[in-house]
Amino acid sequence: METKYDVLIVGAGVGGLYTALSLPETLSVLVLSKKSDTLSNSSLAQGGVAAVLSTENDSFELHFEDTMIAGQRKNDPDAVEVLVHEGPDDVRKIMQYGVDFDKNPDGSIQKTLEGGHCRRRIVHHRDTTGAEIVNKLLLELRRRKNITLCENTMVYRLQRVKSGFRAELLQDEKPSCVFCDYCVLATGGIGRVYKYTTNPAVATGDGIRLASELGATIRNLSYVQFHPTAFNGADREQFLISEAVRGEGAYLLNCKKERFMHRYDQRLELAPRDVVSKCILMESRKTGSNAFYLDITHRDRDYLLHRFPGIYEGCMAHGVDITKDLIPVFPCQHYLMGGIAVDLDARTSIARLYAVGECSCTGVHGKNRLASNSLLEALVFGRRAAEDITRCVQAGFAHVAVTPFTPDIAGAPLPKGLRTEIRSIMQRAYFVIPDPGAVRTGLKRIDAIISRLQNGKFAVTPDYCEALSLAVVAHTILKEVDEG
Ligand SMILES: Cc1cc2nc3c(=O)[nH]c(=O)nc-3n(C[C@H](O)[C@H](O)[C@H](O)COP(=O)(O)OP(=O)(O)OC[C@H]3O[C@@H](n4cnc5c(N)ncnc54)[C@H](O)[C@@H]3O)c2cc1C
Repeated sequence: METKYDVLIVGAGVGGLYTALSLPETLSVLVLSKKSDTLSNSSLAQGGVAAVLSTENDSFELHFEDTMIAGQRKNDPDAVEVLVHEGPDDVRKIMQYGVDFDKNPDGSIQKTLEGGHCRRRIVHHRDTTGAEIVNKLLLELRRRKNITLCENTMVYRLQRVKSGFRAELLQDEKPSCVFCDYCVLATGGIGRVYKYTTNPAVATGDGIRLASELGATIRNLSYVQFHPTAFNGADREQFLISEAVRGEGAYLLNCKKERFMHRYDQRLELAPRDVVSKCILMESRKTGSNAFYLDITHRDRDYLLHRFPGIYEGCMAHGVDITKDLIPVFPCQHYLMGGIAVDLDARTSIARLYAVGECSCTGVHGKNRLASNSLLEALVFGRRAAEDITRCVQAGFAHVAVTPFTPDIAGAPLPKGLRTEIRSIMQRAYFVIPDPGAVRTGLKRIDAIISRLQNGKFAVTPDYCEALSLAVVAHTILKEVDEG
């Protein structure tokens, strides 16, 4: 790894990878991932990518309208316009990189349906769409001589220097530092601030903390999405049962094994996620039980094995055969609609700092993300960030000088239990429906944790940095909820 790059991209999910590939090969680019390059929310995406690839039975206007309805019209309409109009070309571009979406027997691309969509417009690779996209983007990235990818490298602090940034790193836990003219944060979600989430261990909101430490505007952090149908098991990382399973006809049942959605919403099982999650909680209060199920057993076994191989395997690992058994499900944290505030070119409020993908808030999703719009957002706004950086470089901004760096890693070990405590507070205070009393007491305790982390002279380890990120994210969410 060199010490100076034109562009530093923090994160190797779809947002970070596609931004890197959209930059000209004349720029030196460093892409970092905190753990392995395939451990990300992107790699776990099952359902697919929503895009109007043909206007035969669909339109940009319908995709726009579905997105606005799901977002409770709190979306930024300009951002949604950009998403629905430009998205299809980005989907075609990743197909040129080799991404293989499922095809119909006549060779046309297969499209599925998910909650909140009025048309079949979601393209997918079986039920492992994210892994397919990440793998093909990584293959393309390795062909590019201008891009360096480093795994197991965490950015723990970002500082402004002259016209660029100095990023302080823990590479395999050893400190180092790198300089760049432009920095793109693509650090993904915040799921690990909750006790139960679909997000992997890397989703600790680091990018949001790094940006807020620089004074960047953070927006709508309380817009957290709870997916209605995660596998109801004891694991912290809950296995997702994709919306596409309901899209392909699964029924949602209560503890009496009865369908109940008709009592709450006429869109039944295909209502948007926040609606279905709230209906489950209301039904749970009514029946006094947390037992809910998805039933897809009426579909043909061979069809299910081919269409949902990942979900079949994942459920089998928990002893549930989806072709014969009911799948136990319950809501859990899944996605963050808010994040680092950005404009239509993914620019944050700090010059030369960009944010793309789940850590950013483009305004596309409003209060609730429409299924399969997030991979699309990461593609569209990742490319737009790259185009903006390219324009700025062509305008000839000066490069920053390299300055000496003294690592700061000595200090006391992090006390055990702080992260667990943060998760319990969040789970109690704000799970689907906020509990105002628990929000207020939780906020006080989180503030005390932040003060302890900042003043405790702890060693700068990945654990310490992630605990600080989780605490900052929890504080910002609870404060926003408290202020209504
Ligand atoms: C189970 C599941 C299923 C989903 N299904 C779909 C779907 O079907 N369709 C859809 O559109 N969306 C889906 N989503 C959402 C979608 O996958 C994500 O929103 C999107 O992929 C986020 O991409 P990203 O690039 O922003 O972040 P991620 O893919 O999460 O990547 C984040 C990257 O940042 C790195 N990172 C984090 N902190 C640091 C740090 N401090 N230093 C260095 N690197 C760091 C991580 O190592 C990782 O490489 C799903 C999400 C989950 C969890």
